[in-house]
Order: sequence, then structure tokens, then C-alpha cells
Amino acid sequence: EAKQQGRQTQVYNPSLNEQLHRRMEIELHLRKAVELGQLKLYYQPIVSTANARPVGMESLIRWFHPELGAISPGEFIPVAEETGFIVPIGRWVLEEACRQNKQWQQDGFTPIVISVNISSRQFYDPLFTESIVNLLHRTGLEPHWLELEITEGVMMDIHTALPILKELQALGINLSIDDFGTGYSSLKYLKELPVGKLKIDQSFIKHIDSNVVHTAIVSSVLSMSRQLGLEVVAEGVERVEELNALRENGCVFAQGYLFSHPVPAEVAGKLLGESLYP
Ligand code: C2E
Ligand code: CA
Ligand code: CA
Ligand code: CA
Repeated sequence: EAKQQGRQTQVYNPSLNEQLHRRMEIELHLRKAVELGQLKLYYQPIVSTANARPVGMESLIRWFHPELGAISPGEFIPVAEETGFIVPIGRWVLEEACRQNKQWQQDGFTPIVISVNISSRQFYDPLFTESIVNLLHRTGLEPHWLELEITEGVMMDIHTALPILKELQALGINLSIDDFGTGYSSLKYLKELPVGKLKIDQSFIKHIDSNVVHTAIVSSVLSMSRQLGLEVVAEGVERVEELNALRENGCVFAQGYLFSHPVPAEVAGKLLGESLYP
């Protein structure tokens, strides 16, 4: 008992004061991050499980601050959401991702779909759909090469979300449900939502080859998706055993460190058309 307590005190546990200070620091610097060019987009391939060739790239934001160093999106995206900075940041991300995908196409690479994470504030911004229309026009990217990843949490209020999703679908862009299985399961609405793809959260993929509960969950999501005509991407695939288990269960798309970590555009371009089988 005492020994355990002694051990616990050695674990670094930032005080409330330190946490507040860190948050304020992030908030203060985030305001200027876009204009100071401190944000960068990385790209992680989404591959076909059959041949491990990229069919898509997910754009993932990175923030490199000269004094604070690299700050993870897990830490600053929630702050950006709360403060509303996510709106200009998200605009920058969309622009950069579409521009880059068009560039890859112009450079003659096998065309892929570019996926962009959309946060709640952005999704419900009244100018969102219009800004996408303008963006596609400006960059010349055809809508079917763009995909928006939206979490179940964002779509929680189905009546508010549905008309926006329908507007986006009408533009011809792809919509996917991110982190599927972690939110309020909208199983009941899945048929009515105009989404074409589910991304199974990485927590269910981990040790899918040996964890019978994970296997059961993933194989039911796959069979349900087949019946509903939805595509499925398995996220967070790290081991070849996981890939094999996914193939056996008929999963067609996968993403994870096994194929590639998120990498800068210059590196990502070199992966297009290649087999990323380890
Ligand atoms: P997410 O959308 O679920 O993205 C997947 C996360 O899993 C990424 O973390 C990615 O680097 C990581 N990942 C990929 N493969 C593996 C794997 O095999 N194993 C493990 N353990 N992790 C893997 P990252 O880049 O730190 O992003 C974290 C979250 O931040 C994202 O989760 C997303 O919710 C948010 N985010 C990132 N970029 C953006 C953005 O541009 N806009 C918005 N709104 N949110 C973003
Ligand atoms: Ca995502
Ligand atoms: Ca995800
Ligand atoms: Ca996630």
C-alpha cells in the first residue's frame, strides 16, 4: 500500500496550475500559428489490403513551434475547437490538402482520394458548404477526389447534421465516419446517412488476430457494411498479423504504421503507386 503510494508520487503528474499554464500558452501561440507558417500537413496512405497500394491519403496536421517544439494535434485541436481558431486552421488544411492532391495529379501520379478531418465547429459553420464549392473551383480538384472525415460525435444530432451531409453529398464529395465504434452508435441511422465509408477505430484493430472480442466486433461491422453497401477502412494497423486477420474477414482497405507513418508531402508523393507491403 505504502510502497504503491511512494511509487505513484514519482510519476509526473502536472498540477492544475501547470496544466492551465500549458493551455494558455497553446492558446496564445495558436492564434498566430497559421499566419506564421508553423502548421504543416502530413499525409498517411490508406491502402488496398489486396496489394498494399495507396488508394487514398489522410491529411494530418502538425504544429512545429520554434520554442515549444512539436505540439500534437491531440493536444491543440481541442483548444482550437474551443477557441474557434479551428475555423481558419481548418480552412487552411482543406486548401492545402486539395491543392496538394491536384498537384500530385498534375505530376502524373496514380490519382488518389484525399481525406480531410473536419471538426464540429467547421462542419456547422453556415458558410462551410459554400467554402468547399469555392475551394474545389479554385484548386480545380474534382469533388470525387476529396473525402471529409466526420466523427460520430459531430453527427450526434442527426436532424441538424443530415441536411448538411446531404448538401455535401450533392457536391459529389465523399463522406466517411471517423473513429467508428467509439461514439454514440448511430447504427439506427447508418442507412439514412449519406456516407459511403466507415473508418473502424484503431482501438478495435489492435490485436485483432488474438483478441476474440475485437475480431467479433470488426467482423460484424464488416458484414453489416457489406449489407448496407458501405466501404470500410481499418485504422491503426501496426502488425502483419492484424492485416492478415483483416483480409480473412474481407476488409478491403487499411491504414496504419505497418504501411507508413504520416509523412510530409514530398515523402508521401513517392509512395503513390507503390506497394507498401512491409
Ligand atoms: P484521427 O483522425 O483518428 O487520425 C488517426 C491518428 O492515428 C493520427 O494521429 C495518426 O498519426 C495515428 N495513427 C495512424 N496509424 C497509426 C497506427 O498504426 N498506430 C497508432 N497508434 N496510431 C496511428 P495524429 O496525427 O496525432 O492525430 C490525432 C487526431 O487529431 C486525429 O485523429 C484527428 O482527430 C485530429 N486531427 C489531426 N489533423 C487534423 C486536422 O487537420 N483537422 C482536425 N479537425 N483534426 C485533426
Ligand atoms: Ca481521421
Ligand atoms: Ca480515426
Ligand atoms: Ca481518432
